[in-house]
Amino acid sequence: MGISMNRLIVENRKFHTLQEMFSVSNNFQVIAGPCSVESEEQIYTVAEKVKSLDLAFFRGGAYKPRTSPYEFQGMGKEGLILLKQIKEKYNLITVSEIIDIRNIEIMIDHVDIIQVGSRNMTNFSLLSELGTINTPVLLKRGLMSTIDEFVYAAEYIAMGGNENIVMCERGIRTFDSATRNTLDLACVAIIKERTSLPVIVDLSHSLGRKDIIVQMAKASRACGADGIMAETHNCPEKALSDSRQQLSFDELEKLVLAIRA
Ligand code: PEP
Ligand code: MN
Repeated sequence: MGISMNRLIVENRKFHTLQEMFSVSNNFQVIAGPCSVESEEQIYTVAEKVKSLDLAFFRGGAYKPRTSPYEFQGMGKEGLILLKQIKEKYNLITVSEIIDIRNIEIMIDHVDIIQVGSRNMTNFSLLSELGTINTPVLLKRGLMSTIDEFVYAAEYIAMGGNENIVMCERGIRTFDSATRNTLDLACVAIIKERTSLPVIVDLSHSLGRKDIIVQMAKASRACGADGIMAETHNCPEKALSDSRQQLSFDELEKLVLAIRA
């Protein structure tokens, strides 16, 4: 495929792998940014805020796996172009989801980390193909996947040679509807024990609510997670996807301060 190694740059330091980055910076990382890239204005406003809080990572979906085909499907390539602009302007490490194996090349060209969403954790041909590239992969746990299956999914990627993987617990489906999914923090501790991969917790998709996010961020840190993901929007109530769970700027700031305290 002719792909060159993506470098992760934080405060002028270059890291070649996510593992290196998480361990050298020895920091609990916060991946913030909107559920979906919606417009130039939105993405720049959110990136400005994320940068002002000294966060290193920025997320934003350009291709959205939506339950209903009638809902906003993402800006596609235009969204990726905006993410590339953000990455260059603010020196943020960008994360965006791939939903189609045919988009690997374009993802590599536009973002630093390729996210495999929950719905694609068992898309083995996609996982294998991502194993043949050097770009870091953020692998989310499947909606209904066991911890063993989650580790096997990472092995599909690693088998091809790409061991630059960060594991992401994002909650699983259970009978309980108090949260959007059931956050399984034991998964974090187990993955940390079984692998040497960084593990993060996606608090937005696991909880689907904001009122307990600070407590669960602290719990994530306490059980050994290397970071969290928290969807953030300049105007959450007007968001085109996941409006209820996205943090406002004030809420993100409170979360970051609480973690640093
Ligand atoms: C996302 O992070 O935008 C997303 C769709 O998450 P998940 O795959 O965990 O549902
Ligand atoms: Mn979302």
